[in-house]
Amino acid sequence: MSGVKTPVVGVVGGGQLARMMQQAAIGLGVPLRLLAEAADSSAAQVITDTVVGDYTDLATLAAWAEGCDVVTFDHEHVPAGHLERLAADGHQPRPGPGALAHAQDKAVMRRRLSALGIGCPRHAVVADPQAVADFVAAVGGFPVVLKATRGGYDGKAVWMVHDEMGVSRVLDEVPAGVALLAEEKVDFRRELSALAVRSPSGQQAAYPVVESVQRQGICVEVTAPAPDLDPDLARQAQRIAMRVAAELDVTGVLAVELFETPDGRVLVNELAMRPHNTGHWSIDGAVTSQFENHLRAVLDLPLGDPTARAPWSVMVNILGGSAPTLFDGYPHVQARDPRLRVHLYGKQVLPGRKVGHVTAYGDDLDDVRARARHAAAWFEGQPRQRLGLSRPQPD
Ligand code: ADP
Repeated sequence: MSGVKTPVVGVVGGGQLARMMQQAAIGLGVPLRLLAEAADSSAAQVITDTVVGDYTDLATLAAWAEGCDVVTFDHEHVPAGHLERLAADGHQPRPGPGALAHAQDKAVMRRRLSALGIGCPRHAVVADPQAVADFVAAVGGFPVVLKATRGGYDGKAVWMVHDEMGVSRVLDEVPAGVALLAEEKVDFRRELSALAVRSPSGQQAAYPVVESVQRQGICVEVTAPAPDLDPDLARQAQRIAMRVAAELDVTGVLAVELFETPDGRVLVNELAMRPHNTGHWSIDGAVTSQFENHLRAVLDLPLGDPTARAPWSVMVNILGGSAPTLFDGYPHVQARDPRLRVHLYGKQVLPGRKVGHVTAYGDDLDDVRARARHAAAWFEGQPRQRLGLSRPQPD
């Protein structure tokens, strides 16, 4: 990709991930070209070369890609056939369709990881109530987890079911033609995430393994590195991420969401092939952020050092709450904690929506965590409720 001209990186999807890629692209001096769903989307506000259009429309996608040397993504929803077309036209989708299939379809992902001998929850594709009943019997009874194989995010197509009534409700809710995956409910100690970055030349970098806390399927808090994680298990998690990245031929960031079991194993929950919420801490807390490394990888440049800059970093998401304007949070938060890092996404504040995040880092985990939690709660307009918590409680 060397030549007289700096390559243009196309990004499909105008969310906060594309917005934060732009922040890294500024430092690298690499132009981004965005295909956004709306002119006021989070990334369209900051990327000057933006086309507003529908990525599911092949003509729109192909015309936009004419201006790109390489194409990457803010989300994993571009249909496989469209990705094939981009590849055939020489626009180099990174990651490519073969890799992305595993992030688009949970059944494909489970099949592949099982074939590689990588630990996953017990699972089965289930088409009717009898198949669910057979699976429930095989795993020793309810509860089980049902998931749409395609199209889910932030827990939106994941249901914990406790009885046959619950199964019927899910089967009624899921549109015809959407396959369902049944999984054993893993009694996990906590959720971990291992991020690897891989370039087409095969270079890899692995970030420290982090702990993530989810509430109602949404990531709310990430601690880097995961406190008290057995170093052998941490290495194993990093090896899983790097092996999956290599076997699936991933380009860019691969996030492997994991369950740590009480008996000291890790099971893969989910794969994402793009910068990931569990890597946001790296903007301020690592030598090279996941966004910069993602861009380096898709351009097949040497990767940057993923090492943490401080013993602890804690990232807390700002979810839309009672405060209508996030800007109002600045005076207090900035006066109280001059070392805090704040990232707001330019999104309209809607209840529960991810509208920004804060990261604190330092030597003392309790202090770092308290600072990040306080700031996020303040932006959300509910400082007192959140301040009393020693850690976020699952609802
Ligand atoms: P999405 O793709 O929408 O993010 P996930 O498959 O990651 O959905 O599931 C969302 C959350 O649901 C997980 O972070 C976890 O907290 C919970 N979950 C998912 N699968 C299981 C499982 N097999 N056992 C226990 N909890 C699960």
